[in-house]
Amino acid sequence: MRLGVAYYGSYLPWHLERDLRDIYDSGCDDVLVTLQENDFKVFRGKVQLTAKIAHKIGLKAVANFWGYACMLGGGRVSKLLTDNVEAWQVNKEGKRVGVGCMNNPYVYNTLVEMIRDAASYEYDGFFIDEPTRAECFCRYCQEKFRSEYGGSILKADPNDLSKFRARSVTEFLGSVCREVKEIDAKLETSTCIMPIDRDLWEEAVKIGSLDYFGTDPYWLLSNQPVSSVVESTRRVIDLCRRYKKKSLMWILCWKIPKGKEHEIYKATTLCAKEGPDALYAWSYRGGLGTYEESDDPDEAWANLIKAYREIKEHNSGSR
Ligand SMILES: [Zn+2]
Repeated sequence: MRLGVAYYGSYLPWHLERDLRDIYDSGCDDVLVTLQENDFKVFRGKVQLTAKIAHKIGLKAVANFWGYACMLGGGRVSKLLTDNVEAWQVNKEGKRVGVGCMNNPYVYNTLVEMIRDAASYEYDGFFIDEPTRAECFCRYCQEKFRSEYGGSILKADPNDLSKFRARSVTEFLGSVCREVKEIDAKLETSTCIMPIDRDLWEEAVKIGSLDYFGTDPYWLLSNQPVSSVVESTRRVIDLCRRYKKKSLMWILCWKIPKGKEHEIYKATTLCAKEGPDALYAWSYRGGLGTYEESDDPDEAWANLIKAYREIKEHNSGSR
């Protein structure tokens, strides 16, 4: 079982070196770096150096397009949207909404350019985080709906509209994964589809060019008991086995309220017992220094690492 953590990164090599070594020493095999649009434009060192330094230390490096076009999961700040109002979603009343539309070719093509850019700096794989249904009625959604259903999206039957929204997500994901494999077939593709989009899981896991499929059962954010992670993990592993994919489960390690840190240890050990191929946590040091910071980031991180080290001991020799 591969263990990993999401890392917000640095553009300075000596900071990368120090943090990535800390991540390795904490029991991780993999690091998932949250590349933002701003990193591709401004903090180029983060894009260019992270995977190289990770490899030197012994970590696999996966790139995530964090909050891309304010459309994918995570920190949402988008120059692409600032510069291109045409890329925004449009609501039913015709008003533009500041979120990119995955059916818009500009949004798609720009992401592919970013993947090509990052792929030249040694990343082992690319992760598409939380693609989800959009309530968009832009010209591209209108055209796509008309070509598939033969009518106006504005007068769509709710069932047809729901299927259309779901298919827009899985087609987008499938196309991105194919692009990655066209760059280099050895590059790994992975995604997390949220529990609220559970009805998309099976269509997503079927995507031929997708290697890792998983979800993020963030129990505290949905007021679930920590034991609820088991059911999601079993479902993901079952789907992945059926479609010969690898499973990747996410552990909540951000915005942890004081006194709940022990639940991170519990969730991690419960998930690990089910035997997914990979177990990643969001995020490094409990989100310290970010808007996702836990009340006690050190305690949150300590609980994760305690579980990771036990898993490593249990699977000793796997590194
Ligand atoms: Zn649209």
